[in-house]
Amino acid sequence: METLNDQELLSMEDAIARLKTTRPTFYRWLRSGRIQGLKVGRQWRFYAADLDRFLKGEGPRVDTPVDIAPLAAQIGQLLGDTSLAAGLAGVAQGLLRLALAHQASDLHLEPLYTDQDAHQAVVRLRVEGMLQPSLYFDRRLLPPLLAHFKHLAACDPHSQSPQDGQWVMEGEVPSEWRAHFLPSLLGESLTLRYLPPKAPGVTLAQLHLPESVVQALDKSLKQGWGLIVTSGPTGSGKTTTLYAALQEVAAPSCKTFALEDPAERYFPWVIPVQNPPETSFSQTLRQLMQADPDVLMIGELRDPETVDLALRIALTGHLVLTQLHAESAVKALLRLIDTSDSVYTVTEAVKLVLNQRLVRRLCPACKTWEPLSPDQQVAFAPFVTRWQIAPTQALPQAQGCPACAQQGYRGRLQITEALPMSGALRQLLHQHPSAEAIDAHLQAEQWPTYLEDGWERVQAGETTLAELARVAAF
Ligand SMILES: [Zn+2]
Repeated sequence: METLNDQELLSMEDAIARLKTTRPTFYRWLRSGRIQGLKVGRQWRFYAADLDRFLKGEGPRVDTPVDIAPLAAQIGQLLGDTSLAAGLAGVAQGLLRLALAHQASDLHLEPLYTDQDAHQAVVRLRVEGMLQPSLYFDRRLLPPLLAHFKHLAACDPHSQSPQDGQWVMEGEVPSEWRAHFLPSLLGESLTLRYLPPKAPGVTLAQLHLPESVVQALDKSLKQGWGLIVTSGPTGSGKTTTLYAALQEVAAPSCKTFALEDPAERYFPWVIPVQNPPETSFSQTLRQLMQADPDVLMIGELRDPETVDLALRIALTGHLVLTQLHAESAVKALLRLIDTSDSVYTVTEAVKLVLNQRLVRRLCPACKTWEPLSPDQQVAFAPFVTRWQIAPTQALPQAQGCPACAQQGYRGRLQITEALPMSGALRQLLHQHPSAEAIDAHLQAEQWPTYLEDGWERVQAGETTLAELARVAAF
């Protein structure tokens, strides 16, 4: 039975005094997980009850209402490791190893609502942008498991409010994780995001863009002023493209700022600036203009004010790189015109609009070449018409093998379209055309969309029509 006194929170000094130890020893116990603490703001706090349990030689107390061994065995089987420790710590570590083994970006632990069985919980992994269930288990194990993760992430195990935390899992290769705990009507859930080690940024060459896109981008970057926008849905690699382009221009002779929230990437000759709290993006942008910049990367065009400012900065002889949420280059352009309310400003300031998608890359070990099945003929009918795909034409198909965890795909690749501002396009835009009218004009000029780039990649055996269909905006 816990008394009120057990729930008392102690400061680190009080905790050290209670355990009659030294600060370095206390830190060691804390780091190794033998003592459970939680962070309140920047300060560590400790429950008296947890310290007393430690004094009695017991670890942080987390009870499991049902046997956890079957879950440990299940994870061990997926990992091909029969030596996995059976307790909560072993299961937690096993789950993280599972995420790493699948190269997942996120791991989701949540209660599951089903008509048949109200007692299930699920582990789902997001791999290459796709979320998929990995295993199901007894929902009664979820609270103690989350309590253990709260302990790892230095969160309050007794609180049911939304909480965030971060920690490094020790191991052969240490891995960093960010945890987000969220209460729901079914119970509490947890999202874990893997934080990959800071790697050097991808270069334009590594993006393997089609030649026409490379040339258009190169030309716009060399002009040294104007606005370059990349667009696409969330998770289409826009930020990666922006930083790759930024690396091309960043140089000792060029004052370059990257305004991003949060600022996460660092490159030589690029000054990363984060938007201070309580300050608008446009306010920070105005301050940056006082710092004599040549090139600006604006992480996001959040509001009409930022759009106006970005266009104005571009028009006054600066190179501005930014991104916009839009499903095509044409729609991105029209959104800019809508937001700024000035066709003239947009057609003069904008040099190039990119639009992109990420598709999954076929696993080279198991892909096959086969004509489309009758079902696929129907499912991909717009593509069959568009590219006049013959019923006998062999196309690459995803299968699945141990090398790709039976997914048929490994890694991702970017498909891109590039729409440079031209005299003809400028003229057309001044007539306030619809998106369809611009599309028709571009089609007449045989302008290649990102789907044409994708079709090239399908023919080269790099991805599938199914992937194009998944990311296409029909
Ligand atoms: Zn494979």
